[in-house]
Amino acid sequence: MIKDFIDDTRIENILEQAKNPAPQRVREIITKALELKGLSPEEVAVLLQTEDDELIGMILQTAHKIKEDIYGNRLVLFAPLYIANLCANNCLYCGFRRDNKELNRVALTMEQIAREVQVLEREGHKRLLMLCGEHPTRSSLEYFMEAIETAYSVKTEKGGEIRRINVEIAPLEVAEYKELKKTGIGTVVLFQETYHHETYKTMHPSGPKKDFANRLTAMHRAQEGGVNDVGIGALFGLYDYKYEVMGLLLHALQLEQDCGVGPHTISIPRLEPAFNAPAAITPPHPVSDHDFKKLVAIIRMAVPYTGMILSTRETPEMRDEVFALGISQISAGSRTNPGGYQEDNSDAFRAAQFNLGDTRTLDEVILDITERGHIPSFCTACYRLGRTGKDFMDLAKPGLIQKFCQTNAVFSFKEYLLDYASPATRAAGDKLIRKMIDETFKTRRKKFVMDKLREIEDGRRDAYI
Ligand code: SAM
Ligand code: SF4
Repeated sequence: MIKDFIDDTRIENILEQAKNPAPQRVREIITKALELKGLSPEEVAVLLQTEDDELIGMILQTAHKIKEDIYGNRLVLFAPLYIANLCANNCLYCGFRRDNKELNRVALTMEQIAREVQVLEREGHKRLLMLCGEHPTRSSLEYFMEAIETAYSVKTEKGGEIRRINVEIAPLEVAEYKELKKTGIGTVVLFQETYHHETYKTMHPSGPKKDFANRLTAMHRAQEGGVNDVGIGALFGLYDYKYEVMGLLLHALQLEQDCGVGPHTISIPRLEPAFNAPAAITPPHPVSDHDFKKLVAIIRMAVPYTGMILSTRETPEMRDEVFALGISQISAGSRTNPGGYQEDNSDAFRAAQFNLGDTRTLDEVILDITERGHIPSFCTACYRLGRTGKDFMDLAKPGLIQKFCQTNAVFSFKEYLLDYASPATRAAGDKLIRKMIDETFKTRRKKFVMDKLREIEDGRRDAYI
C-alpha cells in the first residue's frame, strides 16, 4: 500500500539549493523544456527561484510556445455542478465548513439536479464537474452516483445532453472507486490543497479531511480501482507557492512511477473570499498575479502533456493572460451554490462555497475568448473512444492528439454556434472557424473538415473523430 511520499525537508532542501541560480543554468533548463520531455524537481526548483525579470520573461515565452505546440488555440469548457453543501470538515478556507452555522445547507433532490442540468444543457454545456461537501449521510457515495446517473439521463431539445461528467469527491477506497467508475465518469479530481504538512494540519482542524496521507494517496487508489484519468491540484494562497508547485510535481511523478501514467489534469485554484471562512478572507500566503503567471508557466514546462485547469475563480483579465501560458480547460458561467443555475438568487452567497471572479454567462465567455483567437471546445471524444489514461498519453506525446483535438474542437464549437450562441457570438465564431480552415488545416484534412461542417449545418450532431 502506498504511503505518504511527500517529504517536507527534501522539498525545502531542493528549493534552498536552487536559490540565486546562475542565468546560464536557467537558460539551459529553458532549452531543455522545449524538448517537451518535462523537467526534474531540481530543474523546476531553479525556475521557481528565478527572480530576474528578463529570465522570467523567457520562462513565460517558453510556456506559451509549449502550449501552442501541444494544445494549439483550444480551450475546453465545462461547468461545475454543486449538488450539496453539507460538510463534516472544517477547512478554514471554505464556506461549506461545518462550523459555518450561517450557511444555508442544501442537498439537492434528483428532480432539482435534473433541473440544474437542463439549464446547463440549454446554455450549451456538454461537460460537467460534479462536486459536493463531504458528509457521511447527506452526500454519500450512493447519493453521488445517483446524481451522476440523473445528470446523464437528462436530455433537452436540439440534442442537448451531458457527455462527460468529471467528479470532485472526497477520498474513497479502491472498491468505492470501482463502483463510481461504473457510472461512466470521466476524470476523478481531488486537490491536496497544500502539500505542506504543518499548514495542512492547521487548515483542516477536524473531520475526515484531517488525514493528509489518506488524501494524498487517494488518486493512487482511484487508479487501482480502474479510474484511468485522475486530476490533482493545490489551493494557492495557503502556503508558499514555490513549495506547492514542487508538491504538485512530486505527486505527478509518483503517480507516473507507481501507476504508469501521471495525472490527466492539474488544477491551480487561488484562494477566493468565502463566507465565514477566515483563511479565505486573509490568505496566509497570497499569490500575486506576477507569481501566478510564473507558476502557471513553470507547471506547463515541467509536465507539458498534463492538462491545466483554471476555474471561474480568476477575473476575465487574468484568465486571458494565463490561457496563453498553458491553460487547456476552463469553467464558464459557474455557480458555486447548489441549485444556483435555476435560481436568480441575490442571497446565493449564503449557500455558495466562495466568491467568483468571473460571473459572465457561457455565451459571454465564449464571445470573449473567440475574439481573442482561442477556439472553445466541448469535445468529449477521447474519453468516449477510450483514449484515456496511458493510451491518451501515448497518443499525446508524439503530437497525434493535436490532430484529433483541433478537428473535434471545430466540430463541437460549430454545433454550439448553431444551437446555442447569440448572433454576435455566432458571427465571431464563424469568422474564427474560417480563419482556422485557411491557416490550420492542410489539404486532405481541410476538405474533410469542410465536408463535416456542411453536414453539421445540415443538422448532423455529435460529430467527432
Ligand atoms: N469537498 C470536497 C473536497 O474538499 O475535496 C470536494 C469539492 S470542494 C467543494 C472543491 C475545492 O474547492 C476544494 O478542494 C478547494 O480546493 C476549493 N475551495 C474551497 N474553498 C475555496 C476558496 N475559498 N477559494 C477557492 N477555492 C476554494
Ligand atoms: Fe468541505 Fe470540501 Fe469545503 Fe473542505 S473544501 S469544507 S471538505 S466542501
